[in-house]
Amino acid sequence: VSAALADLIHNRQPCVVLTGAGISTESGIPDFRSPTGLWAQFDPLEYGSIDAFRRDPVKVWSFYRPRFAMLAEAEPNPAHRALVELEQLGLVRAVVTQNIDLLHERAGSREVVEVHGSIGSSSCSGCGRSYSLERVLELLEGAEAPDCQACGRILKPDVVFFGELLPSTAIDCAFELAREARLLLVVGSALEVYPVAGLPLETIRAGGELAIVNRGATPLDARASLRIEESAGEVLPAVVEALRRRRA
Ligand SMILES: [Zn+2]
Repeated sequence: VSAALADLIHNRQPCVVLTGAGISTESGIPDFRSPTGLWAQFDPLEYGSIDAFRRDPVKVWSFYRPRFAMLAEAEPNPAHRALVELEQLGLVRAVVTQNIDLLHERAGSREVVEVHGSIGSSSCSGCGRSYSLERVLELLEGAEAPDCQACGRILKPDVVFFGELLPSTAIDCAFELAREARLLLVVGSALEVYPVAGLPLETIRAGGELAIVNRGATPLDARASLRIEESAGEVLPAVVEALRRRRA
């Protein structure tokens, strides 16, 4: 199967990759939205929504605080690194990700579009100041929630909360990439969260093809030219090997 995927990537350029929680679970990061995920244990309306944050930001930070530390320590896995290599080979134009964990950047990918935001920064809704992840982690050491050093308001992570719109620049960019892609490669996404789940249809409508590497079914399996039900951390490095051999 990895040879078939290597063929597709080689023959159908440009290739754009769409990643979801499944690529990060191999780095030990729990999936927020799966049936056993965090949002099954914590009511998102109380811990993950923008209304909850406005009502009681300290309570929302009681959920995020331990997760920030955990996410900041997680390491990219072979699937993230394989995508970096594909980009360096000129075979991946960009990675569009639903993940907020920064693992694509930390692995070394250059073109990353974070459609759900990331933990990389937090902002003050009062004065607009932005704080880096490192600074937020420092502020969290002695407090239940990080507050703005200028005006005292509690900072909000720059991740998209339930009830918030997706960042329009990122989502516009993602749809443009999907339209231009001759291959959209989905890695570790069940394609259940809109509007991101609409990206593959955008590619297909524009005449491109779809390949899916995901454990578990997706609503678009029947539309995919190639469907691989295996670990991304095993499949993608094998694809890189196959493409390197082809070049040698
Ligand atoms: Zn402020």
